[in-house]
Amino acid sequence: MRYETDSILDLDRCHAWHPYASTVNPLPVHEVVEAEGVRLLLADGRELIDGMASWWCMVHGYNHPTLNRALTSQVDKMAHVMFGGLTHAPAATLCARLARMSPQGLERVFLCDSGSVSVEVAMKMAMQYMAARDCPEKCRFLTVRRGYHGDTFHAMSVCDPVNGMHSLFFGSLPRQFFAPEPAIPFDGQWDDADIEPLAGLLRQHAREICAVILEPVVQGAGGMRFYHPGYLRSLRSLCHEAGVLLIFDEIATGFGRSGRLWAADHAGVSPDIMCVGKALTGGYMTLGATLATEDVARTICSAKPGLFMHGPTFMGNPLACAVALASLDLLEQEPWQPRVLRLEQELKQGLEPCRSLPHVADVRVLGAIGVVELDSPVNMAAIQKQFVDRGVWVRPFGKLVYVMPPYVISREDVAVLTGVVCEVLRADNGIREAGV
Ligand SMILES: *Cc1c(COP(=O)(O)O)cnc(C)c1O
Repeated sequence: MRYETDSILDLDRCHAWHPYASTVNPLPVHEVVEAEGVRLLLADGRELIDGMASWWCMVHGYNHPTLNRALTSQVDKMAHVMFGGLTHAPAATLCARLARMSPQGLERVFLCDSGSVSVEVAMKMAMQYMAARDCPEKCRFLTVRRGYHGDTFHAMSVCDPVNGMHSLFFGSLPRQFFAPEPAIPFDGQWDDADIEPLAGLLRQHAREICAVILEPVVQGAGGMRFYHPGYLRSLRSLCHEAGVLLIFDEIATGFGRSGRLWAADHAGVSPDIMCVGKALTGGYMTLGATLATEDVARTICSAKPGLFMHGPTFMGNPLACAVALASLDLLEQEPWQPRVLRLEQELKQGLEPCRSLPHVADVRVLGAIGVVELDSPVNMAAIQKQFVDRGVWVRPFGKLVYVMPPYVISREDVAVLTGVVCEVLRADNGIREAGV
């Protein structure tokens, strides 16, 4: 082991393992020493405008005085206490608050560690619900392609089979049912034919299926796609008819990102179970929650073993709950919706010039999410360097160059951010994988 004399980057290279990264042939990483508002300060003195909100999370910006205060005042009282047999104001208040603000009918809140865990919890709830109703054979899930629900095993089993690399884990992944991804875009003309393939699978396999799980309206890491809310309205009645539960994964979309508080609000539809995470704490710490209807909770707890079989060690962590409450206060007090809708217009305007570029397949914007889809995958090392050299933090994947900045970003910074995206894509200087 080496330290002290080595630079952070050396220590990182020798010992850290980054997300979706090789330790053998690593891409460069940048050392961040501070962050403020929408700016990341690098160790070499450079400043970057953050276009990623740290993967959807940091909606109010970095180093926010209100969130900082919530954390420090909670840490002085109690950093953690077990949630088994004990409760406390931050957790109980947060549960009540989430129940109040969520789509109608979701009254029970199960707090957990992260997005993936909230998906595991949701899936376990659905299975236990059917077991409690004497239908243990209803234990499989139906979903759509191009979805993303996290990296733990049951969550992986409902991720897109190709992006999620099911072949790699074949054998240990539960086998689920996949319908084609919704095809009609967000602002297209709704036609029930779009959901017919899913409806067919549901008719055919309802006896084995406990729930349909999907991301409402916005498919995030599986392809950054925006589909028609009509899909969710039809899906809601199909699930009722088939006697299966409906699970919405609002981990990326929750708390205003798509222009509505919940992506489900575009459709005016309530699921039976809903997962949240990411922006829940304003990006300050990891926290997830699984919300369920009273029917789901009662049914599970009215049959053997009379309780729900889950309980993370750090469940209801007071620090995470306190900062989540402060973040929800900010959302309530500050006009997030006009901001996000303004951001939508600015992103549309700023990214529009990309549409005419030769290697751009599509440009799409919804709420505070802007996507430029190329016709071939990017060369990560090259494109990342060009963005950083121009003062912005954008991290593409595959064919997708996308931004979802903190809501507090100024008009000027949006213009710089989108201007740099257009400039780098226009220059097309080695930023696409060779030979594709
Ligand atoms: C990020 C994400 C998850 C996983 O959340 P983690 O906190 O990374 O475990 C699940 N579902 C969706 C839609 C996500 O965007």
